[in-house]
Amino acid sequence: MTDFSDFRPETLAVRAGQQRSQFGEHAEALYLTSSFVFDSAAQAARRFSGEEEGNVYARFSNPTVSMFEERLAALEGAEDCVATASGMAAIMALCLAHLKQGDHIVASNSLFGATVQLFNNILSRTGITTTFVPATDPAAWEAAIRPETKLFFLETPSNPLTEIADIRALTAIAHARGILVAVDNCFCTPILQKPLELGADLVVHSATKYIDGQGRVLGGAVCGPKKLTEEVFKYLRTAGPTLSAFNAWVLLKGLETLKLRVEAQAANAARLAAWLEAHPKVARVFYPGLPSHPQHELAKAQQKSGGAIVSFEVKGAREQAWTVVDNCRLLSITANLGDTKTTITHPASTTHGRISPEARAAAGINEGLLRIAVGLEAVEDLQADLERGLSQIG
Ligand SMILES: *Cc1c(COP(=O)(O)O)cnc(C)c1O
Repeated sequence: MTDFSDFRPETLAVRAGQQRSQFGEHAEALYLTSSFVFDSAAQAARRFSGEEEGNVYARFSNPTVSMFEERLAALEGAEDCVATASGMAAIMALCLAHLKQGDHIVASNSLFGATVQLFNNILSRTGITTTFVPATDPAAWEAAIRPETKLFFLETPSNPLTEIADIRALTAIAHARGILVAVDNCFCTPILQKPLELGADLVVHSATKYIDGQGRVLGGAVCGPKKLTEEVFKYLRTAGPTLSAFNAWVLLKGLETLKLRVEAQAANAARLAAWLEAHPKVARVFYPGLPSHPQHELAKAQQKSGGAIVSFEVKGAREQAWTVVDNCRLLSITANLGDTKTTITHPASTTHGRISPEARAAAGINEGLLRIAVGLEAVEDLQADLERGLSQIG
């Protein structure tokens, strides 16, 4: 891949990875083709054997997908990137590329719900086991290591409580034992956090969230050094959860405005978090950008800002939280996040509704908690929308 290391993120976002065809198109072309034609039998043989680089079949590679991969790799500061059909496909590909029967994962206990299901119910069937530990307690990660531990898997900030895992500290523990570290960088995106620079081996993304940012397509990616992504590529090439060319094309255009969107959404979130913290009907706000966040200093050290996810507890329980949700006319009642349109969700009855009340309480997710993924609307309009419900709490 081309070396873009001299360029700044703004430039990478709109320029990195583009390959023009003979037609000289200015925008990136969308190549809707499932296979590619060779000049000769000999070239076909060289392409299949890997002796000659080039496209063969869209399950292996596609020029539009390659442009997306190269642009995201440049933004993450990664040598290579392999795009996948979704964020979950990226996590599955990473695990099956690097783990085998008998291996063990140590993972944060506040991961995305489907990631927990994947580890507990699907990978477990292949004989790969997982121990879940608190994201914020490096000693617990170290204590969970077994001789067969091959992977640390974490997400930071966590959902919905925005806990911060110390990427540098966890990487030091893992690397001392030859364990790989993978970070799900979905919430921060490379605009706010670069896990590879902090020592992590691999970054996974749900491109469905901020990278698209406008709620249109699913996508995912694994970024890292070629010697690690190569194995992910081999898995995809055979198992098939590759990114479609159309989705790659949408995501390429998403990357062009990623920095503008993420910075503006995070600035809105910071203002909304401060307003909520001062609100008489709000008991507590969880936002890494606030000095009241228990890991505010760590967040400042490893993230450029607090991000665009704000959680808060209303004074009261489910009834009061639902009053806020049900009085929203602007905020979308949906569990999705990363969109330009602000979303609101009640984790205890939706994303975390299937876990037992005891486990929920242990995770700190109580009935009064609400999560907001802040978009691009005017903060004053978001405040007015929330105030309608908050003012009804007795
Ligand atoms: C949404 C999400 C995923 C899964 O991504 P999909 O594209 O929906 O498969 C993984 N991790 C995090 C943190 C997410 O928010």
